[in-house]
Order: sequence, then structure tokens, then C-alpha cells
Amino acid sequence: MKQNNNDTLRTESFLKDIRIKSDNITDYFLAIYFAGGLFLAIYYDTWEIAFAVGGLSLLAYYSAKKALPDSNLYQYVLSGVLGVFMAQFIYQMHGMFEMHFTAFIGSALLITYQNWKLQLPITLVVVIHHALFAWLQYSGAENIYFTQLDYMSLQTFIFHAVLAAVIFFICGLWAYRFKKFNAAHMEQTFRMGQLQQKEIEKEKRSAELVEANKILELQNQEKEMLTHELEKNIIELQKSNSELDKFVYSVSHDLRAPLCSMLGVIDLAAEDTAEDETKEHLAMLKGSISKLDGFIGDILDYSRNSRMDIKKEPVNISELVEDVTANLKFMNGCRSKVDLKINIDKDAVIETDRIRLGIIFNNLVSNAMRYQDDQNTNPFVGIDIDMSDTETGIIIRDNGIGIHKDQQKKIFDMFYRVSEASVGSGLGLYIVKETVSKLNGTIELESEPGKGSAFVVKIPN
Ligand code: ADP
Repeated sequence: MKQNNNDTLRTESFLKDIRIKSDNITDYFLAIYFAGGLFLAIYYDTWEIAFAVGGLSLLAYYSAKKALPDSNLYQYVLSGVLGVFMAQFIYQMHGMFEMHFTAFIGSALLITYQNWKLQLPITLVVVIHHALFAWLQYSGAENIYFTQLDYMSLQTFIFHAVLAAVIFFICGLWAYRFKKFNAAHMEQTFRMGQLQQKEIEKEKRSAELVEANKILELQNQEKEMLTHELEKNIIELQKSNSELDKFVYSVSHDLRAPLCSMLGVIDLAAEDTAEDETKEHLAMLKGSISKLDGFIGDILDYSRNSRMDIKKEPVNISELVEDVTANLKFMNGCRSKVDLKINIDKDAVIETDRIRLGIIFNNLVSNAMRYQDDQNTNPFVGIDIDMSDTETGIIIRDNGIGIHKDQQKKIFDMFYRVSEASVGSGLGLYIVKETVSKLNGTIELESEPGKGSAFVVKIPN
């Protein structure tokens, strides 16, 4: 597993901690060794050796440590110094065999640094010391004090050397194993640390998720409340709308009856009078009442469209168009000589709302007949049906006055009239647009001033 920067820093700080602790132990040992040397001086009066060799050894160790604090050279110096102390103690005790154990104590002490190579300097010092002093003593030199034995057999010497080597080897091995164990331990600690970190992050994320869910729930509740409120408002609005529609419908309906009576009375009055001026006035009155009647008719159409549900039934288009055009022939304000070019298959039947389709035809055809050019000697209105499997196209064309490009977008607006001279109320095309959209259809216009217009209605089957 890869260690991150934090882990590396932690490893370094851990190793530094171990080194400081080992150095502390070393300080105690060196102090005891030096004091031990002074103590041994009591036996054979070796004060100079105790001070000089012990002192120089301490000097070597502490100056190496001071000079190169970041290097581990001082530890190698320590290893050599521990060997020298052994030699010093053997000398001070005039070759006493037990003094060899101080080298083993030193070797064991070095394990704490977890570096098997530290066994090498002490081994080297011990080998040199033994070789040199053994040779000096047995070659007859005076005051060597290497051993208390007068003679050491080769066998004894070999055992001595092998046992010492085994101890140094075991200590080196332990230092090595110790280091490896620590490395594995550290690795495991890192892994556990990382796992813990992941666990913490996971818990944090879960907590965040819970928090987010709570917010979402709150938002949902708010949304539900708003939707509920909106639904309530819509229902209320629909209720008041339908009440208004009903009111408009009944008022319009009730207004139409007296208007019809008025028209009848005007006709009777016109028959009864011989005066031209009175006849002219009555004709004007009739025109105004018819206009008012047309306006009320438009309002009734609008009200019917918004009030009534769609009622689909098979509708013979040819028959419907015939009815519509028959009524329009006597329409006020239209030119009687408009030629109707109806191009509809007699058997063409579509499944749709008869009343609404009638409203569409009535408005578009009446407009096409009304907005003709007085100068045109050959005015016509074309009614074509284009049926496919998916939709029915209704095309109503005329060669009338046409509509300017700027006005084309506005003519479907409520009460919009291109000019004051327009004969209608400005409601017709608005009602057509609403009715077409109620049938899920579309309406498009192509027009050119002076040439005519074409309204194309498409209703899905
Ligand atoms: P209106 O009752 O005034 O006819 P419409 O909504 O039916 O109202 O039409 C809006 C305006 O569009 C009309 O005032 C008229 O000027 C124009 N218009 C409608 N149809 C045609 C047409 N076929 N040719 C030219 N102008 C038209």
C-alpha cells in the first residue's frame, strides 16, 4: 500500500522516537561503564587506564554524536567503544575471564538501534584485541593481562571464538528481525489508519446524505403543499370561470331573442312604409342590429368552445360546409358574387366535434367572403380538404385584400382588427385559434396584400 506524506512523516517521527530512547539508554550504560572502570581500578590500581581509556572512549562517542547529529555514525563509534571497554575491563582485572561478558552486554545493548551492521565494529575490536593481546602475552611480553591462563589450547581458543561469534550473530539477527517486525507493524498501522480514515469519511458522507435527504424531504413537502394550494386555486378558478362562462352564455342567449324580434319588426315596418328615407333608416337600424347579433354570436361561440367538452362523432365535411356556406350567403357585408370553389369529396367523413368544426369553417369562410377587394371582378373562396391517415387538412383560400406581414402575427389576438373599417368584432380568428387548439390542431396563415390569403388548419384524426 502506498504511504502518503502524512504516513512518511509519522514513520520518521516514530523512528526518531526510538533513536532518542536508545540514546538515553546508551547514556546510562556509558556512565555505568565509565564508573565501573573507576571501581575496578580499586583492585589493581589502574586509575590511569580507567580515566584515560574510559575518558577517550566517551570523548570519541559524544564528539561523533555532536559533530554529525543527523548521521548514525556515532552508533558505529559506540559499537567500537563498547569493544574497547571490554578490553579495558579485562586488562584492569588482569585477564579475569568474566570481563568478556561486558562485550556481550554491549552487543545486546546495540540491538535497540535495530541495525545488524552495528555488530561489526565491536566484533572487529574484539577480534583485534584478542589477536593482539593473545600474541603479546604468549610471546612473553610483560603486563599484558589478556588471560589468567598460562596456556590456552587451540581447542579452548576456537570454542571461545565460536561462542563469541554466535552471540554477536544472534544479537545482529535480532536487530535485523526487530527492524523488520517494526516495519511490518508500521505498515499495518498505516493500513489501519487509512481504513479508519475511510470509515470516518464514509460516516461523514452518510451523515451528509441523511442531511441532504432531509432537505429533499422538506422540499418535497413544500412542493406538495404548493401543488395542493395550486390545485385548490385552479379548481376555484375553473369554478369561477365556468360560472362566468355560464353567465356570458345565458346573457348572450337571452339578448339574441329580443334582437330577432327587433329584426322581424323592422322588416314589417319597412314593408308598411312607402317613404324612402324611413326605409333607409330602417335598413341602417337592421344593419346595426345584425352586427350586434353577429357579435353576440361570436361570444356564444367562444363560450361554447370553452364550456363544452369535446364530443366526437362522424362528421360529413361536405354536408357541414354546405350548411355553413348556405347560411353565409345572406350574410351582412359580404359580396354576393363571391364564387365558392368547394373541392371536397362528398363521402369524406372524419371523427371530430361537429360544433367546433362548424365554428372553424363559419369564421374562416365568412372572413374569406367578407374581406374581398371591391375592385376585383372575379372574387372567389376556395375550400379544400386534404385527408391523410393521421390528420385532416382544411385549406380556405381567397383572392381578397390579403393581410400585411406585420399584421399576420396579431390577427389571432382577441379583438384585433386590421383597420377600423373591418366589419367584424375582432373575435372571429381568436375563437378559431382557441377552437383549433381545443381539437389539438394547428392553424397557419399565408397571405399577401392585394393577392389574397390562405388559412391552413390541421386537425389530428
Ligand atoms: P373580424 O370579426 O373583425 O373579422 P377576425 O378575428 O375574424 O375579426 O379577423 C381579424 C382581422 O383579420 C379582421 O379585422 C381582418 O382585417 C383580418 N382578416 C381576417 N380574415 C381575413 C381574410 N381572409 N382576408 C383579409 N383579412 C382578413
